[in-house]
Amino acid sequence: MWSRIKSWLRRKCIKVDGKTAKLRISTKIACLYGAILFVMLCLMSFVTGLGIYFGFYNQAEREMDLSIRNVLQQLDAGKAFTREFWLNEPILPGVVLRVTDVSGQVLINTDNHYPTVEDVDAHVVKHKPLWASEQMEVSKLHNMVIYHEKIDTVYRGEMLQLHFYRTITADEQFLRRLQFFVLSGTVLSFILALFAGYFVSNRILRPIRTLTQTARKIEVERMDRRIPVPESHDELSELADTFNHMLDRLQAGFKQQQRFVSDASHELRTPVTVILGYSDLLSRWGRTDKSVLDEGIDSIRSEAEDMQQLIEKLLFLARADQKRQVLHKENLELSELVADVMKKMQLVEKDHTVELRENEQGEIYGDQVTIRQMMRIFLQNSSKYTPKGGHIWASSHRSTDGKFMLLELADDGIGIAKENQKKIFERFYRVDSSRTKAEGGVSGTGLGLSIAQWIAEQHDIKISIDSDLGKGTKFTLKIPLVG
Ligand code: ADP
Repeated sequence: MWSRIKSWLRRKCIKVDGKTAKLRISTKIACLYGAILFVMLCLMSFVTGLGIYFGFYNQAEREMDLSIRNVLQQLDAGKAFTREFWLNEPILPGVVLRVTDVSGQVLINTDNHYPTVEDVDAHVVKHKPLWASEQMEVSKLHNMVIYHEKIDTVYRGEMLQLHFYRTITADEQFLRRLQFFVLSGTVLSFILALFAGYFVSNRILRPIRTLTQTARKIEVERMDRRIPVPESHDELSELADTFNHMLDRLQAGFKQQQRFVSDASHELRTPVTVILGYSDLLSRWGRTDKSVLDEGIDSIRSEAEDMQQLIEKLLFLARADQKRQVLHKENLELSELVADVMKKMQLVEKDHTVELRENEQGEIYGDQVTIRQMMRIFLQNSSKYTPKGGHIWASSHRSTDGKFMLLELADDGIGIAKENQKKIFERFYRVDSSRTKAEGGVSGTGLGLSIAQWIAEQHDIKISIDSDLGKGTKFTLKIPLVG
């Protein structure tokens, strides 16, 4: 039996794991609903009951007071208990008057069926209700509740006692019944509120359960699953929408990561294959043939250098993705940086004419190391993709609004077709990826411009490209000036 209750509790509302009990939101809402309603009903019943109770006693008191006042006025006016006295109706309906002499003998009695004076006096309650007036007494006898007051007066030189009574049994019974109904109503409403609250909150929270179930089914291998968005346009549909967008982003990131890993391994496979090929060649002919030995060593060295460059770039991008790439930004004189990079380029460049055309001064804020690296990426590309004898130049000047430096890095090389210009910043994208270095192609990884773009983004630099196939390429960097 207990195990059945336990499993029901687990299914419906409470998880019973040892001592801890966790309530579901729907159960919590239902309990809260019920509790709030219960407290409110109790408060309302209490206030209403108190008002009615007080009202009843007050009414009885007023009727007694009025009757007492009427009788005393008549007596003061010297009117005895004559016919005329009763014709004035001094006693209100429901109020009973008894007149006794000092010996206790009843002289006048308006209701013979009423309990005797002694009987009533013998059953006075010790603790009368708080709201009962001080002069009045309350007696309980023969299932009756009587409100009464005793007044001593002198009538024609004789001491008399006036006893006024009013029965409040019906009022008391009404109040008791009212109490019972109000209490039962409150308990019933509480139970109903619990069920209604549980039912309503269960219905409202159903989409959350669907959301949880779908979320549970989503795995790395099945990231294309999405949560059905409720049409209600409320917080839940917003939550489902946000969750789906988060999954979109995660999936895109995950796919990018997968592509990155497969592209990187693909790029590394080629030089490793070449190195293995040459080492085979060397082991067979290298010992005897000096030309084979020289070619083998050169090629292995060149491939190893390419691999090293690729690994460096991969590491850079990995650090950038993980936001671990540290930048030390400071105010820099751009013209000095451009002049220095171009001078070094001129020193190593033998096959092209390298020129610094214009180099206006301008202070920028950035990380010197990565800004140099970015410039070198564009210039080295110009060198790679410009036939021997071609021109490579740089030019730097202020924009017309004076807010930016416009640094142009250009060549009159092979150019880039319009349809490829958008893709060149993608990782591992190369316009002519089919031709390897051995086949007369240009060595490259397709990562240089991705790195340049990341560096530009970190410095709020905008890159624009102007290139024509066969005519050349010009990259313009719009660098913000300090202040
Ligand atoms: P890579 O290591 O292949 O040079 P990049 O990311 O630096 O990689 O460049 C991507 C591609 O953009 C290159 O493969 C090349 O096809 C093209 N490209 C970049 N710069 C130039 C340029 N100055 N002239 C012609 N093509 C260029």
